Amino acid sequence: MTTPFSPQEQGEPIAAIATPLGIGALAVVRISGRGVFDIAHKVFRKKGNPSFHFAQSKGFRAHFGTVHDSDGLIDEVVALVFRFPNSFTKEDMVELSCHGGPVVVKHILKVLLDEGCRLAEPGEFTRRAFLNGRIDLLQAEAIGEMIHARSESAFRTAVTQMEGTLSTRLDTMREELLHSCALLELELDFSEEDVEFQSRSQLQAELHLLKEELSRLIDSYQHGRLLKEGVATVIAGRANAGKSTLLNTLLGEERSIVSHQPGTTRDYIEECFVHNKTMFRLVDTAGLREGEGEIEHEGIRRSYKKISEADLILYLIDISVDNYLDEVSTIDEFLGRYPAAHLLVVANKTDITQKCAERIEQLRAATGCDVCGTAAAKGDGVGLLKLLMSNMAEGLNKQQEASVLVTSLRHYEALRNAFDCINNAQALIVRNAETELVAFELRSALEFVGEITGKVVNEEILSLIFDRFCIGK
Ligand code: GDP
Repeated sequence: MTTPFSPQEQGEPIAAIATPLGIGALAVVRISGRGVFDIAHKVFRKKGNPSFHFAQSKGFRAHFGTVHDSDGLIDEVVALVFRFPNSFTKEDMVELSCHGGPVVVKHILKVLLDEGCRLAEPGEFTRRAFLNGRIDLLQAEAIGEMIHARSESAFRTAVTQMEGTLSTRLDTMREELLHSCALLELELDFSEEDVEFQSRSQLQAELHLLKEELSRLIDSYQHGRLLKEGVATVIAGRANAGKSTLLNTLLGEERSIVSHQPGTTRDYIEECFVHNKTMFRLVDTAGLREGEGEIEHEGIRRSYKKISEADLILYLIDISVDNYLDEVSTIDEFLGRYPAAHLLVVANKTDITQKCAERIEQLRAATGCDVCGTAAAKGDGVGLLKLLMSNMAEGLNKQQEASVLVTSLRHYEALRNAFDCINNAQALIVRNAETELVAFELRSALEFVGEITGKVVNEEILSLIFDRFCIGK
């Protein structure tokens, strides 16, 4: 997969706008691949040097000039030259920094397309960087995660991954596995002579260490996922309890429809907020009550699905109504049904009953959960609620202070599969099974680890990763 190729063997020339389309001071159009210097030459005139050609330029040079089409001047630009293989894609590249208006940018892109570039697919620049050995798959994914990071900690985790810390660990692990595999394969070659190139006890000890390392990475996923995606928090409860109101108060602005009619939040709405450095992903669900219409039924089905995926459930009760204790059975049901999630009872509308203290106490005794009183409409008690939420998140987070975190479900699954294969190999060794079977399990483990960094390439995985990028990345 690593290059090195000649300029003639580079991919076909591609072009894309690399910055968001909108009005800004600057925008960048980039081109990469075979012959891009000739293409850029056709549209660019260097100030004070009309005979300039990009082919004469050294790598990493900036040239000030203008871009033209057949009708004349389009814009003044700075052209950055990156000569093969010293560029992001490991191909010849030119980046044109122009003025940041959508019309200008599209015009420049059009002339480049007219002169022979093809419009890049989403993520195609990064895909080339990977295929040409500039970065591994983990680093390519980290670039995507860095761009999409919504909190400081998610950003930091992505940067660490981009630097290759996890890649280095996985490469070491792969080398160790490869070594054991090679020795077993060698034994197979000499099977008639009944030799052992590595004692089984030594192999077991090495596999044990590998499993420990894999376990550490697997365990870091819970923390990594929370950092990257935020604590999935569902606001559940009957219609009219005040769920949309609470969501809006937590977010600090109007986001979902608040209405006096039960059942108006028919679908779910997802928004994020950061408190004490922790990101919460809030989901407001359709009122959990028997809906009359089909839409409400669908909303209720989706609500239950969202609740089953939650890390934290805020169960809202209207404490001003006399039958507030009727909901204890539903809370019990939730606790049994979603044991992995933390549940916090929010006793809402404390502003319209005199009996809050005693009712909150009763709810606490009846459910065994933490209960927080709020008047969501006025914001009373919401500060305390946020504090309880961050305390819970800290509890979820504190298991791990690992320097390397696994943040992607794809990596997590591959690591678990590798772990299982090594486990199988160990069981086979204990049973004195055929060397061939042990080698098979270790080879499979090797493939799973290799899939993460892209040492083992699977076209389906590549599409999944790079299609998520925007065009120009
Ligand atoms: P949902 O169906 O659970 O999403 O409930 P909504 O947020 O739509 O609220 C239902 C009604 O209760 C609306 O009229 C809100 O203004 C009102 N409400 C919500 N929270 C409070 C509160 O803390 N105190 C009072 N008095 N009314 C509230």
